[in-house]
Amino acid sequence: MLKVLVNGADGRMGSQVVKAVYDDKELELVGGVSISHVGEDAGVFAGLGTLGMPIRAGLGQALDDLKPDVVVDFTSPKAIFENAKTVIEHGVNMVVGTTGLTAEQRTELGKLAEAKKTSIFIAPNFGLGAVLMMKISTEVAKYLPDVEIIEMHHNNKLDAPSGTAIMTANQIAAARKEAGIEPAPDKTHESLDGARGAKVDGITIHSVRLPGYVAHQQVLFGGYGEYLTIRHDSIDRKSFMPGVILAVKKVGSYPGLTFGLENFL
Ligand code: NAP
Repeated sequence: MLKVLVNGADGRMGSQVVKAVYDDKELELVGGVSISHVGEDAGVFAGLGTLGMPIRAGLGQALDDLKPDVVVDFTSPKAIFENAKTVIEHGVNMVVGTTGLTAEQRTELGKLAEAKKTSIFIAPNFGLGAVLMMKISTEVAKYLPDVEIIEMHHNNKLDAPSGTAIMTANQIAAARKEAGIEPAPDKTHESLDGARGAKVDGITIHSVRLPGYVAHQQVLFGGYGEYLTIRHDSIDRKSFMPGVILAVKKVGSYPGLTFGLENFL
């Protein structure tokens, strides 16, 4: 049985992870950590009722006391880099769903994990459909290089653009480069800052933040007299759980850094 500790256990994603781990016969939930709701039962936030598992403060102390095999982190873009360093320093494997890590930070964490002989897995999106959306987009980009991304999320999301949109742009740019094709130049004169969105690897991303949304993305390809839109919608956070559980079970077999769920599929 793999022992799993959930960081951010009272959050929207963390509470779902608590339930998914608890429900899996091959995993043992050993605890939950957060900043708020310390002392309250982690099971209540997960809709499981009382588990006799009070939410703890302090990731380092929880690691010392509970000795998990894997930590799953769904906390905050501001906290994730330090959280990951703490987990790796303790020699524990880690699954990171929290977005906001830069490429440099990921590389640094990967090196640290290699030095400590641990594994860290980071995925901007644990949804199978979202991974397929990215994969299909890279195929299409080889034929239709003119592309923009619109991502739509709930209004409590702290980072923009989303990690999924950044990863999609990175992968499309790499596919375009490999295919040796260039997009048409953008001739727009931007009369208002931000009107044309943000650029990631030369690809425009527009971020929408509204109540009612969960996690959605459209990848729009323009052609001559035609356009193609690839759209993915996560309408329930449960959609991420099979990917999270898969990552928890596989992370230990992939030393150092692994980035992206496609590596485990
Ligand atoms: P959320 O509901 O705000 O939950 C985050 C939880 O973490 C909160 O309870 C928060 O406590 C706690 N927290 C914050 N900093 C912490 C720290 N340093 N140590 C321990 N706990 C801490 O957010 P969410 O919607 O679950 O999203 C969490 C992250 O996952 C975001 O980065 C989001 O973009 C990402 N996400 C990723 C995926 C994916 O598939 N990879 C899918 C959805 C979301 P407080 O309330 O006290 O701040």
